[in-house]
Amino acid sequence: MTLRNVFLIPCIASLMLITSARPADQSAHRDAGLTRWKVSDRNRPVPAVITPGTASTPDAPGKPPSDAVILFDGKDLSKWENNKGGPAQWKTVDGAIVIAPGTGDIHTKQAFGDCQLHVEWAEPDPPHDKGQGRGNSGIYLMSKYELQVLDSFDNKTYADGQAGAIYAQPPPLVNACRRPGEWQAYDVIWHGPRFAADGKLLRAARITVLQNGVLVQDNTELTGPTDYMHRPPYVLHAEKMPLLLQDHDQPVRFRNIWIRELTE
Ligand code: MG
Repeated sequence: MTLRNVFLIPCIASLMLITSARPADQSAHRDAGLTRWKVSDRNRPVPAVITPGTASTPDAPGKPPSDAVILFDGKDLSKWENNKGGPAQWKTVDGAIVIAPGTGDIHTKQAFGDCQLHVEWAEPDPPHDKGQGRGNSGIYLMSKYELQVLDSFDNKTYADGQAGAIYAQPPPLVNACRRPGEWQAYDVIWHGPRFAADGKLLRAARITVLQNGVLVQDNTELTGPTDYMHRPPYVLHAEKMPLLLQDHDQPVRFRNIWIRELTE
């Protein structure tokens, strides 16, 4: 090998490495929409200013962030209706919604798609029954995808049916339940499914859930709508649908429900 080649070969190898690294960097930036703006571009629009909320305490719900849609503020059920489109028949007692067993599910009048959702809930104290019969309710994103609500504090049931499970799909990563009667919180990041016009699934739904500040669902992909002993496939539906709370014949309580719509 000549002296010239000793110098050229490492240079060519370095150039090949740089060239091969470049497309990956560019595609990552393109995915994040960054190719529209220069690095630290002073003309780039800055994010909207909002006022963050405050944390809840056992005695009082916290304050939602200023840009949230308030679905229940402790006063009334005006944002909700029953499954026939009439007034929601659940009760409001001491600043909380209480399920009136047997009156049916309730859902929001407004429809939502991708969102950040905050819901607080408390199980009956003392507890009644066991397994799926103890404090069962549910929070259905888009009326179809159930994040299970259950008294899973010292209450044995199947893993994908306990609190924090996507019902009959992935169980929670851990059991982060508080005792019956204590207020608990779900903080949810939801990205709904996307369909082509012919109904073909383009993107499955994904959910991240914190229960009482603990990660229990980590960007979990759903197999389709949730159901009992069954995993039905996705079927074309609207990009926005109401949020639904389940009546499973037990007087579970809810408070401080708010949602922030997410845009692409
Ligand atoms: Mg349920």
